[in-house]
Amino acid sequence: MISLGIEGTAWSLSVGVVSGEEVILLENKPYVPKEGGIHPREAAQHHSENIGKLIGRTLSRINPEDIDVIAFSQGPGMGPCLRIVATAARVLSLKLKKPLVGVNHCLAHLEVGRWKTGARKPVTLYVSGGNSQIIARRGERYRVFGETLDIGIGNALDKLARYMGLKHPGGPKIEALAREGERYYELPYTVKGMDFSFSGIVTAAQKLLDEGVRKEDVAFSFQETTFAMLTEVSERAMAYLEADELLLVGGVGANRRLQEMLDTMCRERDAKFYCPPSSLMGDNGAMIAYLGLLMYRNGHSTKIEESTVKPDFRVEDVDVNWD
Ligand code: AMP
Ligand code: MG
Repeated sequence: MISLGIEGTAWSLSVGVVSGEEVILLENKPYVPKEGGIHPREAAQHHSENIGKLIGRTLSRINPEDIDVIAFSQGPGMGPCLRIVATAARVLSLKLKKPLVGVNHCLAHLEVGRWKTGARKPVTLYVSGGNSQIIARRGERYRVFGETLDIGIGNALDKLARYMGLKHPGGPKIEALAREGERYYELPYTVKGMDFSFSGIVTAAQKLLDEGVRKEDVAFSFQETTFAMLTEVSERAMAYLEADELLLVGGVGANRRLQEMLDTMCRERDAKFYCPPSSLMGDNGAMIAYLGLLMYRNGHSTKIEESTVKPDFRVEDVDVNWD
């Protein structure tokens, strides 16, 4: 079975084609803001200008007849971006006469991670631009056991980078600076039960910069503090759920220091740590295609009249009837 998936919830515009065994194609055309962060309308404009070309290029490299299902990210995400993607998916589904499946973007990160790593029943730490959640399966649903109370860790890193005059996306730049850090400065450690928050830490880190503290030391202190928070809550979820696997997904999951801290924690409790290849960590069409395929195989499809976008789509809202 072959699935074509379209992703475009925020910065990433991407079309992927997967079979049950492998990623066959992945075409990306990311939106890069000229300055500042992601502007939803500008991103949607970028998506509408490029989606036709991207789909055209994909279809020229496979036989469209071989496609069994068209998947698209139905949410959560930025409304104007989601609408472009949903429209393209509907057109493609009608034109090729193939069924449509609207998928939850967060669940797509998680399922592509399980697929590519072989993790079976992991606690998942999902860390991206807009989201930061600890997710685990309970029966026929995935549940969120902890999450950010304000901004996602990716947005926090991007904001801090912007304050240092660095361009979007800031996460990899903060990671590089942090490697040169020498001194740890204390920042607020904000864990509340199973939840956490980042915006106060960004403000405190900006204050350190204003006071003349080296960028490298601020980046280092910021990563050590926020990643320790994420590691603590992941560990608590694993203890509570008696899980012996941890899966890291989402764009921030590419960060080596975060991987290292989680891996150390897992070793200390005899658990296994998994993370998919970097190309599938950030938002991408292959993960949407894969979840679409999984859902379609298990009897799910989306009628055109039910394909309206869901900017606040929660992972708990998906009925999960697969292993
Ligand atoms: P996503 O929304 O899942 O595509 O993730 C995008 C976010 O990942 C952005 O906020 C990036 O700054 C962040 N990101 C990408 N690579 C890294 C990295 N190596 N370290 C930290 N954050 C990263
Ligand atoms: Mg994402």
